[in-house]
Amino acid sequence: MRRTGPETDALVAIVGGGVHGVHLAVRLLQEDLIDPCELRLIDPVGLLDSFRRNCQQCGMIELRSPFVHHVATDPFSLRDFARARGREDELVPSTVGAERPTVSLFFDHANWICDRYDLESCHTKARVTGIRENRQTVEIETGEDHVSTRWCLLAVGHGGSVAYPEWATELASTGSVTHVWDPSFDPNAIGETSSVGIVGGGITAAQLATEVAQPPGRDVVLFARSPFRVETLEASTDWMHFSGDIEKLHARPPASGSRENLVAEARYSGTMPPYVFRRLQRALERERVELERSEITVATEAGGTVVVTCRDGSSFCFDELICATGFGSPYDGDLFRRIRHQSSLQTGYYGAPLLDDGTLRWRREDGTLSRVAVSGVAAQQVLGPFARNVIGARRAGAQIVGFLESRLNAQNQPAEL
Ligand SMILES: Cc1cc2nc3c(=O)[nH]c(=O)nc-3n(C[C@H](O)[C@H](O)[C@H](O)COP(=O)(O)OP(=O)(O)OC[C@H]3O[C@@H](n4cnc5c(N)ncnc54)[C@H](O)[C@@H]3O)c2cc1C
Repeated sequence: MRRTGPETDALVAIVGGGVHGVHLAVRLLQEDLIDPCELRLIDPVGLLDSFRRNCQQCGMIELRSPFVHHVATDPFSLRDFARARGREDELVPSTVGAERPTVSLFFDHANWICDRYDLESCHTKARVTGIRENRQTVEIETGEDHVSTRWCLLAVGHGGSVAYPEWATELASTGSVTHVWDPSFDPNAIGETSSVGIVGGGITAAQLATEVAQPPGRDVVLFARSPFRVETLEASTDWMHFSGDIEKLHARPPASGSRENLVAEARYSGTMPPYVFRRLQRALERERVELERSEITVATEAGGTVVVTCRDGSSFCFDELICATGFGSPYDGDLFRRIRHQSSLQTGYYGAPLLDDGTLRWRREDGTLSRVAVSGVAAQQVLGPFARNVIGARRAGAQIVGFLESRLNAQNQPAEL
């Protein structure tokens, strides 16, 4: 038994069981820093279900990232998993860079890793509604229950925050317009002869448009106001390595507008990789998808359909209107907003958490390091534009588990636990 000091339910509690939460758990268990009974993974849905659902909702077939990016620690784990099962053909060649796994291979491997570490036994199905940080423990509220832990790792992704165009916000609340990341959106429920409008010009909109246009019979219009931009990855690969770019980021004040802008400039937002662009081009050439360059300015509900009017005066009537307009700010998700209002953890520009660059630990208002660390998109001011990606989970994992190792192995310093 490693635990000493104040009585708690867990030594480490990870909030969020997505790619980041699962990777952190695997690292902690693999390095033997913690027993499964000392670890809690708190998420209201099944492990990795949120990412699985996102992939399914936009009709994603292959990952954008190479096969060495997955939830395990050994970079070649996924490739070996594929080879051992005769599934090498699910590693799809790229014009540049390494092969990429199909979505089904990625998740089969991830499930296998979760089973190997019996992560389900650590999973508590609950939504965290607030955290209170003390000097010795972190108290986690889950509505009906409460978990006391020594260390809390936040890995909640965008925390349910999505971005709608301004004209859509009112209709979204009545359900007439939906968002591709709305948990209730199901592309398979779209009628076979429905007319469908899709708003957005990046990878998600392009994948969704080609997927929805698959069975001929639907009228699909893609509203993309800007020219398509093709990029293999979401940012320059320089950001994947601890290069001068990360140093430049860290030279700016933490949790600042200046860091946020640098990350936003570095991220190739609204782009799509070449293989998605080719599929979209084919769909456009075969007239399965119609491209509309004008911007929607008004949308109104009319007897079960949505009528949209564009800036150039054209108008359309749709059975379904789906926004593929991205996520909202990671600092605006439910949990981050509550933490901002209820705890003594320091925030900066637009609610960004003030994190330590070396350990990703959240600083308290008095400047000391708390018992809460952050992984995922909310750590982008430290890790750069790939923070949200699988490679970001690996980077965050190395930093967070690195500092936890020094604490958890300090058996002779129980007060530090
Ligand atoms: C369609 C799509 C394709 C992508 N493809 C790639 C790719 O090819 N390569 C790549 O590297 N990256 C890719 N990404 C980016 C990134 O890897 C994924 O977004 C990934 O899911 C991020 O993992 P996460 O754990 O941070 O967030 P999520 O997967 O969103 O997981 C967060 C978890 O936190 C839980 N949670 C939220 N709030 C609470 C709360 N209050 N209490 C408890 N639990 C909570 C959620 O239920 C969820 O399970 C893609 C993203 C999308 C959307």
